[in-house]
Amino acid sequence: MTTGRQKCGFCGGESVYHRLYSGEQLCRSCFRDSLEEKTRRTISQYKMLKHGDTVAVAVSGGKDSLSLLDILSKLTQAHGEKIVAVTVDEGIEGYRGEAVELARSEAAKRDVPFHVVSFESLFGFTLNRALDAWPDRSISACTVCGILRRRAIDLAAEQVGATVVATAHNLDDFLQTYFINLTSGDVGRLEFLYPGLEPSIGLPRRVKPFVEIYEEEIAFYAFLSGIPFQTEPCPYMDEGVRTEIREFLNRLERRHPGVKHSTYKTAMKMLSGRGEEKSSDRRSVRCNRCGRPASDKLCSVCRIIETIQNNRSSKL
Ligand SMILES: [Zn+2]
Ligand SMILES: [Zn+2]
Repeated sequence: MTTGRQKCGFCGGESVYHRLYSGEQLCRSCFRDSLEEKTRRTISQYKMLKHGDTVAVAVSGGKDSLSLLDILSKLTQAHGEKIVAVTVDEGIEGYRGEAVELARSEAAKRDVPFHVVSFESLFGFTLNRALDAWPDRSISACTVCGILRRRAIDLAAEQVGATVVATAHNLDDFLQTYFINLTSGDVGRLEFLYPGLEPSIGLPRRVKPFVEIYEEEIAFYAFLSGIPFQTEPCPYMDEGVRTEIREFLNRLERRHPGVKHSTYKTAMKMLSGRGEEKSSDRRSVRCNRCGRPASDKLCSVCRIIETIQNNRSSKL
C-alpha cells in the first residue's frame, strides 16, 4: 500500500510504502533495499546459489522476471556467480516479439549476456501451430505451453552451460499453485513447489529467489526502479481456477495482513525435506524418446509432441 507524509522507519526520509503485515514505513530507497535483502536472504536460506555457479535467469519480459534480472545482476556481481538471461519465444503472434525485445534490452543495460530459444527451433512448431493441431481442448493452452516452456528453459540453460535456473515465481504464484495442487488430489506435484530443488541427473537446479516476496511488492519495485515491462496479457490466457484462488487470497490478505506469508510458512514446513526426497525419486525413470527424467515411458513433453504430430498427419 502506498502512503504519503509518513516517515521511513529506517532513514527518516519520506515514506512511499506502508508494509501492512509488518507495520513498516519505507522510503523509495529503503523499500528497494529491503526487496534486495529479502531476495539475498531467501537465496542463502535455501542454499540456492553456490560459488562459481552460472545462473540462467528465465526472463519472460514481465515485471517479475525483469525485477529478478535486476536484483540478481546486483547480487551476483558481489558473489562471483555468472548470470545469463534466457528467454523463450513460444511463437505467439503479435504478443511475444515485444517481450523478447524488452528482455534483450534490459539484459544489455545490465551487461548480462542474453540467449533466446524458440519452440519452433526446439520442437519444430510454434505454440500457435501446436494449438491449431491440438485434437481437443482437454488440456488448456496454458498447460501445454507451461510444459513446453519448462523444457525450453532447461534446454536454453544447457546451451549456455548454466548449473542453475532461476525463475521469478513470487509468494502469490507459490500459494496459488499450492492451493491448485491441494484441490487436484495429486500429492506428488506438491514437491515440485520446493523453492530450492536439487537437480535430477543432467538437469540444472531450479530455484525461486522471489518465493517469499508478495507480487504487489515486486510490481512496486519494478515501478520505482523504472523497469519497463509487458503489461498486455497473453491472448491464450485461460487461468480457470487460479483466478478464483488469487482473488480469494487477496481478499483474505486485505482483511488479515500477513496471512499469505503465514500460509506460506505452514506450506514450507509441510514440504521441507520432501523436495530432496522427490528429486532422488525422479532419477530412476527415463523417457524412451528423449532420454530425460520422466514419470512414465514418455515424458510429458514427448507426449505433447507425439499428439501434435499424430494429429497433423491424420489431417493430411
Ligand atoms: Zn528510508
Ligand atoms: Zn521425452
